[in-house]
Amino acid sequence: MKIEVLTLFPELVEQVAKFGMPRVAVERGAMQLSTRQLRDYSGNRWRRVDERTFGGGPGMVIQAEPLTQAIEAAKASIGPAKVVSLSPQGERFDQRWAERLSAEPGLILICGRYEGIDERVAPQIDLELSVGDFVLSGGELPAMVIVDSIARLLPGVLGHEASAASDSFSNGLLDHPHYSRPEVWRGEAVPEVLMSGDHAAIRRWRLKQGLERTLLRRPDLLNELKLDAEQLKLLREIVNEQLHGQDGRSE
Ligand code: SAM
Repeated sequence: MKIEVLTLFPELVEQVAKFGMPRVAVERGAMQLSTRQLRDYSGNRWRRVDERTFGGGPGMVIQAEPLTQAIEAAKASIGPAKVVSLSPQGERFDQRWAERLSAEPGLILICGRYEGIDERVAPQIDLELSVGDFVLSGGELPAMVIVDSIARLLPGVLGHEASAASDSFSNGLLDHPHYSRPEVWRGEAVPEVLMSGDHAAIRRWRLKQGLERTLLRRPDLLNELKLDAEQLKLLREIVNEQLHGQDGRSE
């Protein structure tokens, strides 16, 4: 997949491809990441792309013409691509969005700065995405978040040891807890079942732990899920244990 990021700070965005899974994705040819400096389209010798907001008040706005030229150049460079503007007013980016976007042939990510971008660019934008209900000073960090989350979903990027399938949200639930060596650390032992070699029991334990964490930490996720018979049975056990203690009996 090809991703091009339109930004005033290409050096910042390029860092994302130097580490971790985005780096692997680039090295394995699963992802091509490029950046485009908006100032290259300023059309003035000061390389300015921002102007004061009409109507008065503080703050500057990224102008429509340089941004439009940058979008057109990006389209010509990477071919078919969804144009995504990063904005706190956009749809909330989540794992489902990461999955959907990872299936696109290309993405053009627009990083706003100042008060944002001139509204008249809107018809050229396919989608606005927000990384959460807070305001950052620019779209670069959100763009990097999106690039990272997509990179790990591209075929051939994650190995078995870090499969995306068991990650939080991929099956609608939070991930189960993980343990590593030593078996006993500062008096705390790893749950016995994980040392048992009984794969069916381990799978069931992990599923139950994921369900329990989701129930306790993010019950909103359960509302959106259609649980199967096994998950429902485990959820009933969990609720019973929460109400009556670990052995499921009332006091
Ligand atoms: N005036 C804008 C508003 O209140 O909606 C905020 C502009 S913000 C200071 C500058 C840029 O940062 C935005 O154009 C956007 O690209 C980016 N940005 C800030 N917060 C973001 C968020 N939560 N998600 C995605 N992008 C964000």
